[in-house]
Parts: sequence; C-alpha cells; structure tokens
Amino acid sequence: MSKQDSTNLPAFEALKIASNYLRNTINESLSNPLTGSINSDDQLLIKFHGVYQQQNRDLDEERLKQKLEPLYSYLIRIRVPGGVTSPEQWKAIDALSDTYADGELKLTTRQAFQFHAVLKRNLKTTIRKINDTLLDTLAACGDVNRNVMSSANPYESPVHAEVSEHARQISAHLSPQTGAYHEIWLDKELIAGGTPDNEPIYGKTYLPRKFKIAMAIPPRNDTDVLSNDLGFIAIVENGVLKGYNLSVGGGMGYSFGNTATYPRVADVVGYIPAEAVVKAAEAVLVFQRDHGNRNDRKQARLKYTIDKFGLDYFRDEIKRTHGILLEPARPAEFTTQGDEYGWNQGADGYWHFTLFVEGGKLTDAKGIKAKSALREIAEFHTGTFILTGNQNLVIAQISPSDKKKVEEVLQRHGIKDKDSYTPLRLHSIACAALPYCGLSFAEAERYLPLLVDKIEELLAKHGISDEPISIRMTGCPNGCGRPFLGEIALVGRAPGKYNLYLGAGFSGNRLNKLYKEMVDEDGILTTLNSLFEDFAANRNKREHFGDFVIRAGYVSAVTEGKLFHKVQ
Ligand code: SF4
Repeated sequence: MSKQDSTNLPAFEALKIASNYLRNTINESLSNPLTGSINSDDQLLIKFHGVYQQQNRDLDEERLKQKLEPLYSYLIRIRVPGGVTSPEQWKAIDALSDTYADGELKLTTRQAFQFHAVLKRNLKTTIRKINDTLLDTLAACGDVNRNVMSSANPYESPVHAEVSEHARQISAHLSPQTGAYHEIWLDKELIAGGTPDNEPIYGKTYLPRKFKIAMAIPPRNDTDVLSNDLGFIAIVENGVLKGYNLSVGGGMGYSFGNTATYPRVADVVGYIPAEAVVKAAEAVLVFQRDHGNRNDRKQARLKYTIDKFGLDYFRDEIKRTHGILLEPARPAEFTTQGDEYGWNQGADGYWHFTLFVEGGKLTDAKGIKAKSALREIAEFHTGTFILTGNQNLVIAQISPSDKKKVEEVLQRHGIKDKDSYTPLRLHSIACAALPYCGLSFAEAERYLPLLVDKIEELLAKHGISDEPISIRMTGCPNGCGRPFLGEIALVGRAPGKYNLYLGAGFSGNRLNKLYKEMVDEDGILTTLNSLFEDFAANRNKREHFGDFVIRAGYVSAVTEGKLFHKVQ
C-alpha cells in the first residue's frame, strides 16, 4: 500500500480513501430520476469504472433558453488489451453503439472502443451488456493503469504474438481488484459481512494520476511507445524475443499558461529479459504510486516524478522493491510510426487487411459504409478484429478462401483502398473534442478531415502530395491524440483558433515545438503554404518535414520535455 495513505491528503486523495474502493454514492447517483447528471464526487470516481459524464455542448444554448439542464450523457470506454476482439465481440459492441450510444463507434488512440451520448438511464444496461461480451470498462480511465497497448497485429510473427500476450498479462496483473465494479454495474452481491476489499497493488488511494503502458516492436513505433508512462521496446535477436528496453516518463499533456507542465518523451533506461516483463511493470507502477505528487494533480504523472527524483534513484528503487536489475539498453531503432495499411499476407498464408478509419470514427457516412461492412464481415469472419493505436482497424487472420468475399464486401460498401488517400491523411489523428468533451476549446475530430482537404491542395501545388507527414489535432493540450508527436500539430485555444506546433520526429522520438499561437484557418493555410514551398525546394533527400523545419531554423529541436516551453 502507498506510503502516502496516512498523510494529510488533498480532497481527491481523501475522496478515494472515503469511497470504499470506488463505490462512494455512485449507485444512488445512478438511481436519482430527477437529473441526467450524477453528483460531483461520483463524477470523479466513475472514471475509474471507464465512464465520463459529459454534455452535448452543441445544445447548451438552446437548453438554457428552454430552462432545461444541459443534455447530460456519458462516455463509456471499453478496455481491449492489445486491441484484439473476436467477431462475436465486434457484433455485440457494434449493436450496443446503435442501441444505447449515438450510433458511432469511436476507435481511440489507445486501442479501445468509445461510446458517446449514453444516457444515465441506459448506463447500467450498456455496461452489463459489454461485460456479457467478456470485455469491460474497469480502469479504462481513472488513476490506475489504463488499457495496455501493443503493436497492432499479433499474427504478424511469433514475436508479435508473444508481445501481445505480454500486454494481456500486464493488463490482467495491474487491473484493480475492487468488487465495486461488479456490485454497481452487474448487480453482484455485496461482499459478505461488509468485509473490506483489498487492492494489493494500488492501496486505497490508487495512483496519483493515470498510468499508461505500451509495447512496440522496432522498427515500427505504431503505439507511440515513448509517449507512455512506461514503454516496453521489444529486443528481437534472430527472430526470437529476448527481452525489452524499458522506457519511462513519457506523457503528452500540459496546461496552457502553466510552464511547470510539459509533454515529455520517455527515457530509455535499460533492458530486462522477457520473463521479467510483468514484474517490471509492477515495479514501475509501484514507484509512481509511492513517489508521485499527490498534492498537485498537474504535477502527478510519472514524467514529473522521474524529473524530480532522477533516473539513478528510479533504477535503485525498482531494484530495491522488486529486484529489477536493469542491464544497459540494447540497440533498437524506430524508423516509422503509424500503421501498415491495406493487404498483408502472413507466413501461415492467412491475410490481414488494415483499414484507414479517419479520426477513429466508424460510421456509415459520406458514401463509406464502414460500420455496415464490418458488421457483414463479422458474420462470416473466422479471425479477429484488431484496434490499432492510431485509430485504425485490422481485419486479421482472414482465411485465403474468405479473402475475395471480404474484398467484395469492402468494395460494395465504398471502402477505399489506401492509395485513394494521401499519406498526410493516412498519418492524421484527431481527438474527440466537441461536442461532448468538456475540456475542448475547439473542434478536432469533426474539423480535421475538412482542413486536411485544404492542406492536400497545398501539398499538390508544391508537388509533395506523396510526402508522409504526420498531422494531429486536439481540442485542448491534454494530449489525448498525442499531438506533441505530430510533425504538424494543431491544439485548440478557442473556437476556430489553434496553436501550431512543428518539428516532431517522424518515428515518435522527438517532441514538436510551438511555432505560432492562436491561428485561424487562413493563418494555418498561409503558414503551411510557405513552409511547404520551402520544403519542396530545399529539403534533403528523404528528409522528413519534421526534421526539415528544424534544420531550416523554423523551430528548435526539443531535446527534453523541460525544454518544451523554452523560447528559442
Ligand atoms: Fe478532450 Fe482535450 Fe482530450 Fe481532446 S485532448 S478529447 S479536447 S481532453
């Protein structure tokens, strides 16, 4: 249990203790028929159950005029370790999104599903039905370990399968043990005699803040592993998984106007053998549990803990508490991020198709009936569906005899080939933002596709349409879409206004830097037009846009998180 349990704790920490392992008054809040909302303490705790209270901000003004409370609804995040789901799970989740959410299936940047606009009266039923599929929402949010990410396709090689299995083992080991989830959502009996729960790893106060883990297999950094609190970078020798380089202290968010907060790319701190992976994950999590800042949530992520205590102390501590002895990190290099789109055949003859899902929104819209296509495929598919860390989807393990059938369904529903999209669009990521996210200052998911249309015209004008450039947009600097690893990033400041960041490394190894503040669409396009003109004329062979803007002096390279705000 945390060393900090007995100290004089701030309000949220005290609430966690008083909540009786995440119960508090959530049940009473859910059964109050007078409001679509739940009480403010329960709003904080319900996140640990994978649920956020939101409101439809598009309707706020109208509801106010009508003297109605805001239209409250709930986001439900479904945890999918490694992103792998069966056709049966797919069909069930798809149906639930139609029945209880807004009909849209959001694929997140952490290989999870997200429902939006679920009404309070439907929350329990929806979560119960999610559990019926053998998926759950526990710890999809909150001050605990979140969904563990893994390289997209476990069927790509035996190493990929092993890494994906490790992701599942870590996820299971670090799951909260509270019975509250089963009591509240599944109407399971209270523990006999009120015997208190026990959280052997977390203790009563859980973690100071959220904790994110990802695995990646070089040379493809398809999970942006260095943006995570803890990363496992596979070390493969002669086709055999030997172990992992450990990376610690990554994190994307910061707060506008607070330069003590900053995004950070993780440090690679050493190597562990493969068999130590679960123990190492626990050791790092426990280090953060006991050393993270519980007095200031804006300083509570592991990235600040690492900067405060230093890497030598960190290494000593995980050795002292868990016997994890880090060997020197082994050579490993990432050369790319993002997903491998289109068709690929494995050594076993089975096929895999990676589908581009713009903004992670699976819908039937604009002539592309992706949701219907996948529903139809799920009826006969004998393999799996895999959510990627870039909001895309792999239809995996398609038997050779089914390939033609899958192709026909995709074509009939208007699913386009990867060659129909520019590399810029294929490397785009947007967070959910408006209308539901209460923290967003500006549009992201609804706007980025339209902006990309216009940026594509600029790329074509300068003859660089084939250039893979990563672009990311978020409605605020919290970092859900990992904006600070985009070669071009737009972070919402106000309606229609964004901060423009440039210069991240293409393989997810370097942060970008603020280039312009509060730019509107005209400003964004004018700025990018002149940057693209220079890039097209003066780039070195195979030089990425993010590297070029640094060499050409537009922004300086951010070599560590603490320098993110440094004026160049
Ligand atoms: Fe909301 Fe900000 Fe996260 Fe986007 S990055 S979903 S606006 S909190």
